[in-house]
Amino acid sequence: MSQHHPDSCSLMEFSAGNLTEPHALCIRLHLDKCHQCRSRVDMMESLGAVMMEQQPQISVATSTFDSILARIDQGSQELEQERPRVKSGPLEKLLGTDLDGLPWKRQIGDVSILDISDRFPDQPERVVMQKLTAGGKAPAHTHRGEETTIVLQGAFSDNKGVFNQWDFVVLDQEDNHKPVALEGDDCITLSVLSAPVRLTGTFTRLLNPFIT
Ligand SMILES: [Zn+2]
Repeated sequence: MSQHHPDSCSLMEFSAGNLTEPHALCIRLHLDKCHQCRSRVDMMESLGAVMMEQQPQISVATSTFDSILARIDQGSQELEQERPRVKSGPLEKLLGTDLDGLPWKRQIGDVSILDISDRFPDQPERVVMQKLTAGGKAPAHTHRGEETTIVLQGAFSDNKGVFNQWDFVVLDQEDNHKPVALEGDDCITLSVLSAPVRLTGTFTRLLNPFIT
């Protein structure tokens, strides 16, 4: 079972249909495997429906709830379309292959990457898949902005703990970490970068795709 989950705010924004496509994909992949978060989203959506029914009596305190209500006001049919409960392979559908068939680009040592931003042509974020060989180490790095990551295969550990398959993690400029893949499977992650990561070790130039 997943130990690291999206925060409530992200789940609410997902429910409201406010997330960009790459961020929504990360949440959707997690929800597909995490009963706990799925029931939270169900609860938020039920709450949204109740709030709509009682809208005149309720003072809405946050912009997030305003967004949920606005979406609901657009009609239940549209809302249904925005709450897809994907049951099979949204990522494989997007990539056109399974994880093994991807044209990984070896960066340095144990790290390979694949930039799939072009699969989201209308989105401003960079979307990058990273593969760390089983038992391998990534160079130390920090982040210039927020980076949302979901583990698709294998597991890695850093100073914050162990992140297993379908775990969800958000890192920012406060996080300086040096991930190590656990033994067993290669660790494959999907990350949405609001700004590129910034390397703090000696591999800055070699890992140029991360910092352009
Ligand atoms: Zn969860």
